[in-house]
Amino acid sequence: MKAKTCKRTTRDKVALFCRFFTGLKNVYGTYDPKTGRVCQVKEPVTEEVILAHLKGQRPYGVYLLEQDLTCAAAIDFDDNDPETPKAFVSRAAEHGISSYIERSKSKGYHVWLFFSRGGVKAAKARLVVRHILREMGTPDTEVFPKQDSLRNGIEYGNFINAPLFGALVPQGRTVFVDPGNAMDPFPNQWDFLEQVRLVPEVKLDEIIAADRLVSPVHAVLGEQPRTVPSPRFLPRSSLPICAQRMLNEGVTENQRVACFRLAIHFNRLGIPFDITVAALSRWAQKNKPTDDKGVITATEIKKQADCAYKKSYRSFGCDEPAVKPFCSAECPIHWRVDPKSVNNGGKSETP
Ligand code: SF4
Repeated sequence: MKAKTCKRTTRDKVALFCRFFTGLKNVYGTYDPKTGRVCQVKEPVTEEVILAHLKGQRPYGVYLLEQDLTCAAAIDFDDNDPETPKAFVSRAAEHGISSYIERSKSKGYHVWLFFSRGGVKAAKARLVVRHILREMGTPDTEVFPKQDSLRNGIEYGNFINAPLFGALVPQGRTVFVDPGNAMDPFPNQWDFLEQVRLVPEVKLDEIIAADRLVSPVHAVLGEQPRTVPSPRFLPRSSLPICAQRMLNEGVTENQRVACFRLAIHFNRLGIPFDITVAALSRWAQKNKPTDDKGVITATEIKKQADCAYKKSYRSFGCDEPAVKPFCSAECPIHWRVDPKSVNNGGKSETP
């Protein structure tokens, strides 16, 4: 990387730092450099907070997730072997995205991806990062942000220690390193930051589409389908068997209602609207309508998803002709309520 050194004021540096390591504005994390004890500080992230970090007085940890958006993603490789973060950077480059290695404060490396101004959907960022980690054979590596959105009772998410903590920079820690030059720190970290390439959301969309990451939808959820859920109750984080079957097999009739029902489940699971639409568009390709209406259109999919996301529907539509053929006696709903109330609960909410 060619360095174009220029004179920067402290204020310039704070502004540059905040362009990349930004998230929630009213809370941050920190730790005691002597004991390593971490804590959360429920105070505004001011210029003084950032300055104290850059000067090495008090570390700053950033909560990256703002609602369902993030400006950066970080992968925490917790061992000192530099080949693993280097492999991630190479893999990411093969997908057309830039990523950067930071030597972390004590052990291992962080790899950072930075996104376009205003951020991208965290669910998409996490999906792509997890996909690369799976390709590398290290699927269990820790990824920040750890959640897709601040919903379902998640108030802050998890913070990650920001780079460039002034007390550790002279030791070659918390600095960005050059994988093309023996992992030596870039000589001027500010020049380095100036030249970072941002990843636009459209690039994530391209990877998601090219590698079919939205199908099956469980890939979006970052979990495997649970074909036999607990018989006690249906976990909030899983799809009922009827929805899993509809997704896997496609449908032959009642596409509009099936689409609406699936969108309700996705909304219940906290999946962002546009990912739901993308997943349903891919699902529609599996449908083989037996009537002469043809496959449900993109406009109709969006309309059904829109209706499903407008309010919190509680019924699973168990008695609807669109859902019934996909029902299974293994579904815990059968244990939870008697068949009569299942049927009552299924009264039509279709728009
Ligand atoms: S009982 Fe209802 S929710 Fe469960 S599989 Fe059957 S239709 Fe789906």
